[in-house]
Amino acid sequence: MIEIEEALALILSNKTVLDATTVDLIESVGFILAEDIHSPIHLPPFSQSAMDGYAICGKQNHFDIKGIIKAGDTSSYSLNNGECYRIFTGAKVPENTTAIAKQEIVNSTEKQITLQEQVKQGTSIRLLGEELQKGELAIRKGTKINPAAIGLLAGLGLEKVKVFQKPKISIIVTGDELIKPGNDLPSGKIFESNSFTLQSAVKSSGFDATIQHVADDFESTKSVIDSAIKNNDIVILSGGISVGDYDFVGKAVEELNVEKVFYKINQKPGKPMYHGLKDGAKVFALPGNPAAALTCFYFYVLPAIQVMSGVTTEGLQKTTAKLNESFLKKGDRSFLLKAQIIDGQVAIHKGQSSAMLSSFVNANCFLYLKKGNKSYQKNDVVEVFLLP
Ligand code: AMP
Ligand code: MG
Repeated sequence: MIEIEEALALILSNKTVLDATTVDLIESVGFILAEDIHSPIHLPPFSQSAMDGYAICGKQNHFDIKGIIKAGDTSSYSLNNGECYRIFTGAKVPENTTAIAKQEIVNSTEKQITLQEQVKQGTSIRLLGEELQKGELAIRKGTKINPAAIGLLAGLGLEKVKVFQKPKISIIVTGDELIKPGNDLPSGKIFESNSFTLQSAVKSSGFDATIQHVADDFESTKSVIDSAIKNNDIVILSGGISVGDYDFVGKAVEELNVEKVFYKINQKPGKPMYHGLKDGAKVFALPGNPAAALTCFYFYVLPAIQVMSGVTTEGLQKTTAKLNESFLKKGDRSFLLKAQIIDGQVAIHKGQSSAMLSSFVNANCFLYLKKGNKSYQKNDVVEVFLLP
């Protein structure tokens, strides 16, 4: 059995990132950029008016109107001292423009304008290349592509982008007691929930997963895991990894020669978690208890998925908070408690059983308490891992 930090360090020490692939820009949202993007153009590509108004040349108050320049006009215009052009936001400013006078401060006749107030040189002109010079680094490799990044890349004229592939993920659920929601519930059975929990956790983290159900039977368990490893980068199992007579996952991964990284973590919940590697695939066997399965997913599996996808800030964000009430910690295991952090104060939720999800529903963090017995007082500073 290993400690929480050791388990996480072992997972994160495997830095293998999947190959890069080129995708259409719009498909790249949520992926990690696999190349530095240097701007292929100046941005903006020409000096633009930032206002609807007049492009003026000179320091005087009166200007003669030479004409009109609309946004998108590709002609070149130029001004002499004392002249102006009617101009609109986004239009190319004429040569020798000293400033744009916004129309709100201008009195105009058909031929002339008079400024009601002074306009400082350079006002309301977006200069050529003021955001990015041609060749300048626009977005760094390893950045998660969000809508703003997509817009910036489109604004640079790019229609395709190189990203790291996302891992193929398989979720395998074990347990003969499990009934699909929507069916009758015979006494002795429970509704199956882990596939829903895990698949939605995968989805809300920006990835996809397929689901398979397998009976509590050694041969089926082994063959389903075998084919999942062959066809996926990440295999997540739920249940069947404990020491019961019908827990076949441990024996199956052993017979399949999956290289064990660890089995059992000195934690509550989720002690019987297993992690192994085979043929480039990462195998995670999570305990069947619903809260334990989700805790282990967030704490260990998600960082592994992120590493494979090229994320460089993988893992749950760590911070500290003050306990809102005293807490007596008992036992040799470290705790990951479902909790809520608000304004730097953290409250431990009632109902921490690994079988219970209710306390997870409104949790926004895990409160991390190290192994051993300890009496915590109100306002003690404790470590917290924020849920994504
Ligand atoms: P196991 O790890 O297979 O011994 O399962 C531990 C506990 O979790 C048992 O009470 C199971 O009934 C429950 N459990 C296992 N798998 C699921 C699942 N997919 N959905 C809901 N509960 C589950
Ligand atoms: Mg089971």
